[in-house]
Amino acid sequence: MGYQVRFVNPQRAYGLLKDELDAAYHDCMAKGELIDRAHLADFEAELAEFVGVEHAVGVGSGYDALHLALRAAGVGPGCEVVVPAHTFVATCSAVVNAGATPVLADVGPDFNLSPAALAKAVTPRTRAVLPVHLNGYMADMAAIDAMAREHGLVVLEDACQSLGAAMDGRKAGAWGRAGCWSFYPFKILGGYGDGGAITTDDADLALWCRRMRYNGEDRATGEYHGHGFTCLLDNLQAAFLRVKLRHLPAWIARRRQIAARYQAGLAGLPGLSLPHYDDPRRDHVYQNYVVRHKAGEAFSQALRQAGVEVLTQFRKPYYQHAALNIPDTGFPETEALSREVTSLPLYPELTDAEVDHVIGAARAFCEAWA
Ligand SMILES: *Cc1c(COP(=O)(O)O)cnc(C)c1O
Repeated sequence: MGYQVRFVNPQRAYGLLKDELDAAYHDCMAKGELIDRAHLADFEAELAEFVGVEHAVGVGSGYDALHLALRAAGVGPGCEVVVPAHTFVATCSAVVNAGATPVLADVGPDFNLSPAALAKAVTPRTRAVLPVHLNGYMADMAAIDAMAREHGLVVLEDACQSLGAAMDGRKAGAWGRAGCWSFYPFKILGGYGDGGAITTDDADLALWCRRMRYNGEDRATGEYHGHGFTCLLDNLQAAFLRVKLRHLPAWIARRRQIAARYQAGLAGLPGLSLPHYDDPRRDHVYQNYVVRHKAGEAFSQALRQAGVEVLTQFRKPYYQHAALNIPDTGFPETEALSREVTSLPLYPELTDAEVDHVIGAARAFCEAWA
């Protein structure tokens, strides 16, 4: 159907950045710089500085970042890793493909790993915890970090949705042994294809990932340091990402402005809960604006009928997909929110008039539903 408000709009974003992106493209093409070149090294330095850590290693995707970081931290067969029940499936698949056993824990009303559920999920075999900062809002890292110290667990952050978010002034990705990032086109910092990165203060971990992303090879000596992978962030993607990273602070400000407009326009509507939380230690960069409506799918459908393209992540939790072979031990909060979620369009290029159209459609449904 022809939507009046699209969920994403890469064409519009390109139109606004065309000169800068085209210059980045021509620079790579003219110099023939494709694999492991200056734009990659420069992007890594700029990303590390943005996150507030020493090292960044560009890889092929967010999944690759998670998979390599887990292996680099010594997670493998016999290890349990606590992951949230509500997340993108790649969080869990990275654990399985590293040879370890995922142990699921329920989330809280902030959609993120509940510290209380984590405490219950820890066993003598738990090696690591993989909190996810979903939608642009960090998990309660102060509590999770304290618990991990108490139990001697490695913390790896799935920060794929939260570049720029912080808790107590410390950025997402700067809390755990490593932070894992995705530059999938529709992430808050998106490339023009798949991409990802690992950020860390641990020089050994960074070096291991740097070698393993390139088949285990030390590029200076030619020595293979293990059986690795081919999952290097392309120099061309890095060149595009450098352009976009410069705009990120302004884009986050615009995202917050749009979120505030949604909040003002949607507050107090029957059956509707908004993603504005009351923890003053954590800010929100609004990668996604996920509302909950008691009517569930009927709310999402009504918006689509009104010309608003919405996403419903994730109506069916990943652990309910039979082929993944994950025991469903009951995750009531994940189940409740999975029924109720709808992500509204939110990206910096959205106009106020489009936001108001979304608000109008949501209001109409809620007022009729009451
Ligand atoms: C996008 C995402 C990933 C995976 O990133 P890819 O780049 O698509 O591999 C992992 N975890 C979360 C929470 C994500 O949002």
